[in-house]
Amino acid sequence: MSHTDSQANDSRRYDESLYKGIYGQFFGMDEVLFENRTEHQHLVIFNNQRFGRVMALDGVIQTTEADEFFYHEMLTHVPLLAHGNAKRVLIIGGGDGGMLREVCRHESVEHITQVEIDRQVVDMCREFLPNHSAGAYDDPRLNLVISDGLDYVRNSTDKFDVIISDCTDPIGPGEALFTSEFYEGCKRCLNEGGVLVAQNGVVFMQPEEVTVSAQRLKPYFDDVSFYVAAVPTYVGGQMTFAWATDNPALRQLSVEEISRRFEQSGLRCRYYTPAVHVGSFALPQYVLDLPGMADTQQAGD
Ligand code: SAM
Repeated sequence: MSHTDSQANDSRRYDESLYKGIYGQFFGMDEVLFENRTEHQHLVIFNNQRFGRVMALDGVIQTTEADEFFYHEMLTHVPLLAHGNAKRVLIIGGGDGGMLREVCRHESVEHITQVEIDRQVVDMCREFLPNHSAGAYDDPRLNLVISDGLDYVRNSTDKFDVIISDCTDPIGPGEALFTSEFYEGCKRCLNEGGVLVAQNGVVFMQPEEVTVSAQRLKPYFDDVSFYVAAVPTYVGGQMTFAWATDNPALRQLSVEEISRRFEQSGLRCRYYTPAVHVGSFALPQYVLDLPGMADTQQAGD
C-alpha cells in the first residue's frame, strides 16, 4: 500500500487539500485501512479517534462515520418527504452507500437506480465503511450502474420522482455533475412534479458553486432554491443543497404537514426533524445577497 499519493504529510496525519495553502483541516490517521489510485481518483479510508472511519477522494474529505448522518438524512428525507409519493429514486454518485441506506428506509420507494462512476469506491466502502451502506447494496429495489452520471442522464429513458446528486466537488470526475447539460438531463429524467437535489458545497467558502448552480438550473426548473445544514467535516460553515422542481408548493409545505408525513413514514433520524426540514430553506442574508440569488424564492414567499 503506497502512501506516495496520500495527502498525509506523515504517517500519522491527513491534511485535506480542498483549500490548499489557504485554509484547511487535518485528521489524525490512527490506521490506514485502504489507499490507492483508482481508475478515476485517489481513494483513502482511514481510522480517526474522534470521527471513526474517514473516506477522502483526491485530497477532499467525503464522509466520516461520526457525522455522515447530518448530510445523508438531509439530502434524502427533505426531497422524499416534500414530494410525498416518490416511487422511483435516482442517486448520482454516493459510492459510500450512505445515501442509498437512507433512501432504502422509505418503504414507499419501489425502485432505486444508483449511478456511481467508480466501482472501487463502492467495493472499498462496502468493505471498510460497512456502516454507511449497512446492507443497502443488497436491497432488491436497487439497480447499481457503474457509469458517469452525465452520460447516464444524457442517454437514459428512465423516469424518476426524486434525483439526488451526491457527487464530489466540481473537480475531476465530479465537474460534469455541475454542468447545464447535467441539469438538463436530470430535468428530462424527472417525472412531472419531481425534485432534483444536489450537494452544492459550503457556501461561505465556495459561493460561486451556489451562484453558478442557480444560474444553470433556472432555465430548466420553475423553482430553484437551496437549503442548508452545517456538517462538521465539510469545513467553513453551512453545506448547501440545491433544490430544483417545477412544483413550488413542495418547498412551501407547513411543518405540520411534514410532521404528518414524517410520522407516517415511521422514520427515526439522528439529525433530520420536520422543523429542521422547514427551517433549512431559510437562507442567511449574505447568501441571498450573492449575485443572481435575489430572486431565489424563500419558503413562504
Ligand atoms: N458527501 C460527499 C460530498 O458532499 O462531497 C460526496 C460523497 S460520495 C463519496 C461522492 C461520489 O461521487 C464518489 O463515490 C465519486 O466516485 C462519485 N462521482 C464523482 N464524479 C462522478 C460522476 N461524474 N458520475 C458518477 N459518480 C461520480
